[in-house]
Amino acid sequence: CSRSPRERFPPLTASTEGSAARGLAGEVSRRRTFAVISHPDAGKSTLTEALALHARKISEAGAIHGKAGRKSTVSDWMEMEKARGISVSSTALQFNYRAAGSDIDNVINLVDTPGHSDFSEDTYRVLTAVDAAVMLIDAAKGLEPQTLKLFQVCRHRGIPVITVINKWDRPGRAPLELLDEIEERIGLTPTPLFLPVGIAGDFRGLLRRGPEGAAAEYIHFTRTAGGATIAPEESLTPESAEAREAAAWTTAAEESELLSATGQDHDQEMFLAGQTSPVIYASAMLNFGVRQLLETLVELAPAPGSRADTGGSPRTPQDPFSAVVFKVQAGMDTAHRDRLAFMRIVSGEFERGMVVTHAQTGRPFATKYALTIFGRERETVDTAYPGDVVGLVNATALAPGHTLFVDKKVEFPPIPSFAPEHFAALRARSAGKYKQFRKAIDQLDSEGVVQVLRNDSRGDASPVLAAVGPMQFEVVTARMQGEFGVETQLDHLAYTIARRTDADSAPELDRQRGVEVFTRSDGAILAVFSDKWRLQYIQKEMPKLTLEPLVAAA
Ligand code: GDP
Repeated sequence: CSRSPRERFPPLTASTEGSAARGLAGEVSRRRTFAVISHPDAGKSTLTEALALHARKISEAGAIHGKAGRKSTVSDWMEMEKARGISVSSTALQFNYRAAGSDIDNVINLVDTPGHSDFSEDTYRVLTAVDAAVMLIDAAKGLEPQTLKLFQVCRHRGIPVITVINKWDRPGRAPLELLDEIEERIGLTPTPLFLPVGIAGDFRGLLRRGPEGAAAEYIHFTRTAGGATIAPEESLTPESAEAREAAAWTTAAEESELLSATGQDHDQEMFLAGQTSPVIYASAMLNFGVRQLLETLVELAPAPGSRADTGGSPRTPQDPFSAVVFKVQAGMDTAHRDRLAFMRIVSGEFERGMVVTHAQTGRPFATKYALTIFGRERETVDTAYPGDVVGLVNATALAPGHTLFVDKKVEFPPIPSFAPEHFAALRARSAGKYKQFRKAIDQLDSEGVVQVLRNDSRGDASPVLAAVGPMQFEVVTARMQGEFGVETQLDHLAYTIARRTDADSAPELDRQRGVEVFTRSDGAILAVFSDKWRLQYIQKEMPKLTLEPLVAAA
């Protein structure tokens, strides 16, 4: 295909025309910012593509993606990502969506999450930037480990969750069985808005549930070739639906009543409180149920709201500009080796060029180069509003969790880091590269690629890297070589568990077999243990020692 990327993938930036008339309140209320949480292969990339297709920003699905021959996500920056077919970086896709019968162009921000479980630490940070999450489940597989883990993060952060049961065009489980699994395993009450007509593998359409589970409408879908275009929809009354679909319809109608009998009807307050989850059955590949998801996001998902600062006071979207950095990344593109910080706007209007204050250093920060980024597409952003994600170029001092603001000072709480489970010592192969090595370590550390631990006995030349997943180490060694020209030697260490300790307990712990004490770059003192039995033994023998669990997602 010889078309340029621009042709294949036209800009997805939402139009900001008319924002002056709308005012800040109008801009906030028309925005929805969410992420998709799922296990690899559940169909997140396919759904992203389908959403963009429905927003009519791309004319044919398949244009954004091309992983493994079929599709490659635009967010495939790094060679490694491409080689593995996984997404390491997180960016945001923004598009306008006008719901049927509405005269408001909603602005949808879909914040991309890394797909591989080794990058759950990145995903955790992404989830600090969204107001809602879509939990995407494979109809044949049900809840999978990575979905569960990410769901726990949403619950922990109080993020409301919309559930999409995907791949209904393929044989899978019974609709209610999947709902029971959600209820039983994570204690989230599923409240379907739509039920499938036709069993998994015979997806004919959706029954829209009305008050008390009465069937309100039948939406019949027609397949298009390869799911490349929007599936035509036909709206039928329940009577015509029964005449047309016979048993497939009556089964769905009965299921709907059954759900009402057990109280599984949508309740907006319970949804926002994270107790219930609206459910949509879909096929991202065939574009079935995708419009329904967009309408649900617009109707039910919350618009950007207030965020508590470190003192617990709320910064409302109407306050002067403030934003949280949730992701820092460098070397995403070999053409421009820059460092990008992604911020989520919390309050006020952002205008490119405005000078903001970096709360952590008190220094001014000029926002001359502000971009929206999705995959390889970069576009300059001139104005942005609460809920939007903006990439700042060459933002050297910014790190995940940092705050930017104007006027009224504000600092948001730091983003907690995951408890590491993998440890490895890293050093430069050649002593002559020590300077570059140090610089690179500092950079990767501040980006949050890995946690960097040091102690006196290992010295500065051989810090210990701590990670949630071992693939984080590969990112480090690949970037050390590719960006900084430093060949490194990585030695895995036989530690599997870390606890936070203090200066009083550190010396005693350091004397124990199978234990080593480090200082993390944020100043935290960590004791690492070979295994949990070692830890339990020490806790039992020396109960006075401080050993606190680190924040874990699950
Ligand atoms: P991700 O890893 O979550 O991003 O998943 P992908 O979007 O890459 O999808 C994984 C595989 O499932 C791909 O082969 C897709 O074509 C396929 N897939 C995704 N959605 C659907 C769907 O709705 N129906 C069917 N039959 N296959 C799907």
